[in-house]
Amino acid sequence: MHLPEACDFVVFGGTGDLALRKLLPALYQCVVEDRLPADTRVIAVSRSELDDDAYRSQVRLALAEHVSPEHHDLGAVERLLSQLHHVAVDVEDDHDWHTLFGMLKDRPGAENTVRIFYLAVAPSLFGPICRHLGQGGLADAPARVVLEKPIGHDLASARAVNDVVGSVFDESQIFRIDHYLGKESVQNLLVTRFANTFLEPLWNSHSIDHVQITVSETLGAGARAGYYDRSGAMRDMVQNHLLQLLCLVAMEPPIEIGGGREDVRDEKLKVLQALRPMRPEDVDRDTVRGRYAAGWVAGQPVPGYVEELGEAGRDSLTETYVALRAEVQNWRWAGVPFYLRTGKRLDRRASEIVVVFKDAPYDPFRQREGATEPNRLTIQVQPEEGMRIHLNAKEPGPGGYRLKPVSLDLSYANAFDKRSPDAYERLLMDVIRGNMTLFMRRDEVEAAWAWCEPILRHWESSAMPPKTYPAGSAGPTASFTLIERDGRSWQES
Ligand code: NAP
Repeated sequence: MHLPEACDFVVFGGTGDLALRKLLPALYQCVVEDRLPADTRVIAVSRSELDDDAYRSQVRLALAEHVSPEHHDLGAVERLLSQLHHVAVDVEDDHDWHTLFGMLKDRPGAENTVRIFYLAVAPSLFGPICRHLGQGGLADAPARVVLEKPIGHDLASARAVNDVVGSVFDESQIFRIDHYLGKESVQNLLVTRFANTFLEPLWNSHSIDHVQITVSETLGAGARAGYYDRSGAMRDMVQNHLLQLLCLVAMEPPIEIGGGREDVRDEKLKVLQALRPMRPEDVDRDTVRGRYAAGWVAGQPVPGYVEELGEAGRDSLTETYVALRAEVQNWRWAGVPFYLRTGKRLDRRASEIVVVFKDAPYDPFRQREGATEPNRLTIQVQPEEGMRIHLNAKEPGPGGYRLKPVSLDLSYANAFDKRSPDAYERLLMDVIRGNMTLFMRRDEVEAAWAWCEPILRHWESSAMPPKTYPAGSAGPTASFTLIERDGRSWQES
């Protein structure tokens, strides 16, 4: 692939956790692999009074911490550091901007240079940043702006964020990141579905019984409990990551993937629009929200969420766990439930999609020993990336048929002798190249909020606390009832 043109990559919030832990290590890998032209500048912005050298020292330490030792290349570190700059700007102060603007405008060939503005700051700062960039004449194409979650905490606030950014940047310049879409296994789901023929005839309600999407974390809210309490699992995980995964499973084949067209985003939007709306009685029946109590994780006692919150915990009704049953109302998926669940402080760290096929229509092995299981396709998103097909097989041996479930494993690590890049590496290069396929469009984000909002509203109006589950467990009992009452069970790979 050809090297992109040099650009100015401005990171607002360049001293923050996201920048130091994710963005700079991703840019470092781009340097290692010669994908970042040497005359690209990475300009970090924060209020801290740091000169370039002081900022470079911070980044050197961050790379030492966040890049694994076997991928540490001192030459590449120095190359990246030489491309880094820091400019102190309080983005809420009208008078602080001239140094940054001067740097961007005085560059030779500035009028044709792509400028990327990555907003790794609180969403309340998106407005002031965009306004200043617009007033400074820096928002015209080929400028691009990258937004991180959260994009709003409900439909109205998401629209407000989109309006503020959209008043300065055109939608074709706005890259909304959902880092799940940058994961190799998630993109491989598109390849598996649309570059192979064997699945497509089965990928519908005739052959598929149901789909499960799980994002399970062992970490708790911990020191970030105060911040987390304003969102909760529904806003933090379901509205974006889980619904995006659902879209990729359920979408129709797009005309083109990876080019400059809108097909993938158009098809994902149609899925979101086809989700069965949740009425209050549906919310009561088809959703479960939970909150971890004290328990044990990896042999250590850990406090409950309410204790982590301290004083504020007394009044909190925030959920750290959600399970729900969704339906996509269209020809392909009518009658196929999509069970989604996500939570903190659970018994395992795993993100996976399990597609469970229907039982064979007839069982000729009536004299067999051993039970058969429905076929399953499991797409593992983390910690390991890969794919597994579960089949029934004959156990070797004479006399009769002993059947046993076995799995065909495609582990990325084993199949490809290559480092699996972090999601941000892929996504940052897509921003630099101007490829929007893996970024959420405004209408997608708002359609996802429109579906989630009645659930959130009904939970709020009921004023019932979430159901508790012990830290280190598999979630609240009600989440098992949710799926078991349909005669199904959660699949643990
Ligand atoms: P953080 O560690 O608190 O960093 C915030 C950054 O913003 C710092 O560099 C801070 O630097 C800068 N900043 C704050 N006020 C500023 C101002 N008035 N003018 C200029 N710079 C200012 O936060 P974070 O964890 O990196 O998260 C940043 C955003 O990304 C948040 O909206 C978060 O929700 C989102 N996000 C984060 C992650 C993650 O993994 N951390 C993941 C997804 C989304 P100074 O204080 O020196 O000004």
